[in-house]
Amino acid sequence: MRQKQAYATLFFLMLIVGLWSCKTSEQWAGQAPIRIVPTNTLPIQKQQLGTFDLGQGVYASNDFVGARLNGITRGDDGKLLALITPENTPINPSPWYSFKLWAEEEQEVSLKLSYLNGSFHRYHPLLSRDGKSWQRLPEDKYQRGALIDNESPRELPKDATLQLTIGPDTLWVSAQELNTSLDAANWIAGLTEQPYITQSVIGESREGRPIRLMKIGESDDQQMIFVLSRQHPPEVTGYLAMQAFVEAIASDDPLAERFRQSFNTYVVPMANPDGVDNGHWRHNAGGIDLNRDWERVNQPEVQVVQAFLTEKVTTSGGTLYFGVDFHSTWEDIYYTINPELEGNWPGLVPQMITNMATELGLEPNIRPNDVDSITINSSRYFFSEFGAESLTYEVGDNTPRDLLKRKGEVSAMELMELLLSGK
Ligand SMILES: [Zn+2]
Repeated sequence: MRQKQAYATLFFLMLIVGLWSCKTSEQWAGQAPIRIVPTNTLPIQKQQLGTFDLGQGVYASNDFVGARLNGITRGDDGKLLALITPENTPINPSPWYSFKLWAEEEQEVSLKLSYLNGSFHRYHPLLSRDGKSWQRLPEDKYQRGALIDNESPRELPKDATLQLTIGPDTLWVSAQELNTSLDAANWIAGLTEQPYITQSVIGESREGRPIRLMKIGESDDQQMIFVLSRQHPPEVTGYLAMQAFVEAIASDDPLAERFRQSFNTYVVPMANPDGVDNGHWRHNAGGIDLNRDWERVNQPEVQVVQAFLTEKVTTSGGTLYFGVDFHSTWEDIYYTINPELEGNWPGLVPQMITNMATELGLEPNIRPNDVDSITINSSRYFFSEFGAESLTYEVGDNTPRDLLKRKGEVSAMELMELLLSGK
């Protein structure tokens, strides 16, 4: 009898575990809860920029904005070995790389991307012949190395070997599309040709790069929304979704035209220009993860954005209804505020995401914060400081570009419709 009971208990436990693992295999639970960490400035390691002569008429270069290549050599076997290291440690592993290759005569080369101990290869290589349009390296030209951890479901390799055809024309090899602070400035300049869009510089990064702000709309600032992006340099897919989101608000769609009469949208598209232009894995030039500095506010980039928002909301007497910060991670996921906490428009963010997902026929992965009071990152700051309904909008590293742009665009359309419909 006791044995039967034991079997029943065991069966029950297995059922629970089975159901639980079944649930978690459907949707990713997201990153571990974030903790308050010191954000005092730390030293960073700069790359030595230049051209590397690899023999046999082959050259590599990291001498351009956004590059990351810490060293490259040719082994006895003739293969190229590239070393990719972060700006400092400890660091969240988003191992960015970007470099150029060329050769006097067209040839095939084998190139291994290797990382410091404890890191791994993450980004599928993108190739470009002009630094502007990009294509994924075909699978049959790409071999992932041994896994760093056989237990991890993500199957992360220590390194990767690329088969590349190079010749006199430059080949760019990059972890994601290159989108530097200059590209962002050009994008903003293009949009500000519209009479209802203006730009300004609200401050400087640690290395003196401008922090640019765009204002979209012709209202009296009584109703406002805020858009932030690129605190983390390699998170280009989030940046691309942000562009589609902002372009929808800036468009000539009648909904967007009506929206701009009632709401002003403020955008800081490039929050960490030093990190982006120096090819960092994650941090600013102060060696800090900016999205952990919203409570302690030690870094100039976060200080600039907070000062702008505080000034704007105080002097206008208006309401910030919504704040979004675009990022990238393994998969598309939406980190929202605990729905039991009521801000200026309860339910706005989950409704926006649900409407967008319905429109696109998707199953959204929405993960509300369970912690309620800590202002550690930007979206919690928007909420706790201004009551703005907010989220961290995460886009997968490998999400197809046309899909992520549709997500950004449709999210903006749904948001505008909800905000115009009144509570
Ligand atoms: Zn991020």
